[in-house]
Amino acid sequence: MTSPHLASPAARYLAGYPPELIAQADALCTEGRLAGYLERRFPERHEVRSDGALFSYVNELKTRHLRNAEPLNFVGYDAKLRVLQHALGTHTRRTQVQGSKLKMRREIRVATLFKDAPAALLRMIVVHELAHLRELEHNKAFYKLCQHMEPDYFQLEFDLRLYLLSLEESR
Ligand SMILES: [Zn+2]
Repeated sequence: MTSPHLASPAARYLAGYPPELIAQADALCTEGRLAGYLERRFPERHEVRSDGALFSYVNELKTRHLRNAEPLNFVGYDAKLRVLQHALGTHTRRTQVQGSKLKMRREIRVATLFKDAPAALLRMIVVHELAHLRELEHNKAFYKLCQHMEPDYFQLEFDLRLYLLSLEESR
């Protein structure tokens, strides 16, 4: 096991992926080809630039795939989400006391960096957070639900990690 601070940048973003894939990503980085690869793969941007637009976008997907899920109390971009820990967004269910009743607050927050991300990667992150409305853990049922909403989910999650890596490389 390599200790994290000795790992290559790609290894940090792609922990758990096969070594061949990590080596390929490292090669893309060191040869300066990662940004170009991502631009060719994801030419399409999105127009979901405000919290209001994100709210509509999330609810549209929710209505299409999770019709019976409880309504969301809040959807928005969050500049405070730390990229590596929270790039996959956060989903919270806060319990609030309202009079004598406990009320669940369901919120989806998406890291602000996704405002400028490719359209497919925003969709992937929203699908991930929506799946958490049904499944809290990253278990088999959770990923099945992600794939139901986005058949290309696993490829896109891998590409998202490459995208985050390219943002770090370009700093
Ligand atoms: Zn998650």
